[in-house]
Amino acid sequence: MSLLWSALTSAAVSCSAAFLDQLTSSPPIPSGLPAAMADNLAHMAIGAITWAAVLVNEADIARRDLILSHLFRASPALEVLLCAAVASLVDADHFLAARSLRLEDATSLERRPFLHNSAVPMAILATCAAARQFLGAPAAVERLGALVLAGMLSHHLRDAWRRGLWVSPLPRDALPVSYRGYLLLLAALPILTGAYLVARDLGNSGGDLRATRIEHEDVVLA
Ligand SMILES: [Zn+2]
Repeated sequence: MSLLWSALTSAAVSCSAAFLDQLTSSPPIPSGLPAAMADNLAHMAIGAITWAAVLVNEADIARRDLILSHLFRASPALEVLLCAAVASLVDADHFLAARSLRLEDATSLERRPFLHNSAVPMAILATCAAARQFLGAPAAVERLGALVLAGMLSHHLRDAWRRGLWVSPLPRDALPVSYRGYLLLLAALPILTGAYLVARDLGNSGGDLRATRIEHEDVVLA
């Protein structure tokens, strides 16, 4: 059952990404602003699908019930939107680095801008985990770090089949990624993130679900 869910969510993420890539590289979309907007919407959609898949994997890995109600609770829906926003906002660094709002300036940078460095989301998650571990920050802070990591990496992986991955201190674009490699890594992302959330006991709705289970067990025991 667990393998089935993981396989299904992985296939859903990869197939959606391949479909969106096909859609956004089709000739009817004019180059310039429309192409840039379509590309960013694809990043956003893949970020959203990635987090939805994380939620399914998280629920399944923990062998919790009520996966569907878990998915459609308000908080997970907000998380999905947040992950989509993170995946989309990564490209804001083009404008920041260019110090200009003009698309031509943002797309003619000599170097990839800083938010495209995959060491950044890893450092964010490590910082959030350390804040929880050593400063007593709530688990939600580390969960947010994992969400930022998933959103940013979904963007980085999609960019990587065109320009490679960049992980400091390695040089920019030092890790080439084939198209198949990108789809495989993207498929693995929600499984690994879900496993991390469970391993670190970062369940968002876990309390609700546990409460539901305890209520159920009470009924059984009674
Ligand atoms: Zn990008």
